[in-house]
Amino acid sequence: MTGTQSPTGRPAPRRSFLAGLLGQGIGPSLSPELHEREGARQGLRYTYKTVELPDAALRPDHLRGLLRAAVELGFDGLNVTHPVKQVMAPLVDELAPEAAAIGAINTIVIEDGRTRGHNTDVTGFAAALRAGLPDVPLERVVLVGAGGAGGAVAHALASQGVEQLSVVDRDATRAGQLIGALTAAGSRVSATVFPPEELPSLLADASGLVNATPMGMAAHPGTPVPVDLLRADLWVADIVYRPLLTQLVREATARGCRVMTGAGMAVNQAADSFELFLGRAAARPAMFADFDQLVAVEIDGDAPTPDPARPLDKTRPTEH
Ligand code: NAD
Repeated sequence: MTGTQSPTGRPAPRRSFLAGLLGQGIGPSLSPELHEREGARQGLRYTYKTVELPDAALRPDHLRGLLRAAVELGFDGLNVTHPVKQVMAPLVDELAPEAAAIGAINTIVIEDGRTRGHNTDVTGFAAALRAGLPDVPLERVVLVGAGGAGGAVAHALASQGVEQLSVVDRDATRAGQLIGALTAAGSRVSATVFPPEELPSLLADASGLVNATPMGMAAHPGTPVPVDLLRADLWVADIVYRPLLTQLVREATARGCRVMTGAGMAVNQAADSFELFLGRAAARPAMFADFDQLVAVEIDGDAPTPDPARPLDKTRPTEH
């Protein structure tokens, strides 16, 4: 990142930035709007390109070539998403600790010709939990869903001090692999795989529940746990954000649980990537407002939907 010279002889701050998103099925991604709106708010010329990868582009040698081209073309960074989060990890010059721990990246910073992989799904969920559910008990947490997002959430929960993590997935192999990755990363969390049939006993004495399955999306209606297992002293975080108010979020809110929607992870991962790419702080409250506006058209109302863990604009806490 080299700046131009100002009349004072000092390098002028950079005003122009270029980033992008590589993946498949990325048409509906909110990342371009979230990044470019924040750049414009800061008076920058910031362009964020989406690059839909055909199947033929998923080979590591092709991806290595794309990454090299991005470096040569002057990109400041790339986000990468499904299905290349794992395959890109060994292709960067270095990995940030959270990315090395999870073996998957969603953010690549390009600086001075070198590439560094990060995982802002991990840091984004951790930031969301701190801001959205501050001071919740972290002794025993049940995580349902051990896919790519569940892996990031598990590492984030471990980083935030969760003591016992029960990982529940229909696919016991995926849950086992997630726990293997936590162990390989040297995590001190005590993590165990359970089948969905164990949810009643697990939730009976859990402090918190996180949904990292697609359950709750329009294409996957319903909840990942029977709703009669929800009780007021259980905190509940859902990472699904289309729609924002999933059935799990609604049922947990109705039962008096402290609740966090998927907005927190989605916005914080974008803000963390923005900060890594541009080396400048992101205005998170403004990015949350953008997010509300962008998802408002997708939800079954006509106005920004309240996040139970995050009061709307007038009363919104400033820590986001
Ligand atoms: P994935 O398909 O890789 O993994 C989903 C996992 O859930 C699978 O292992 C599957 O076996 C398991 N599963 C599905 N239904 C289940 C059930 N009823 N009980 C137990 N296990 C079940 O998907 P992913 O990439 O990990 O994403 C999961 C969801 O997370 C997405 O659908 C998306 O809505 C959400 N997401 C949110 C954010 C965010 O920023 N808020 C980011 C990424 C993903």
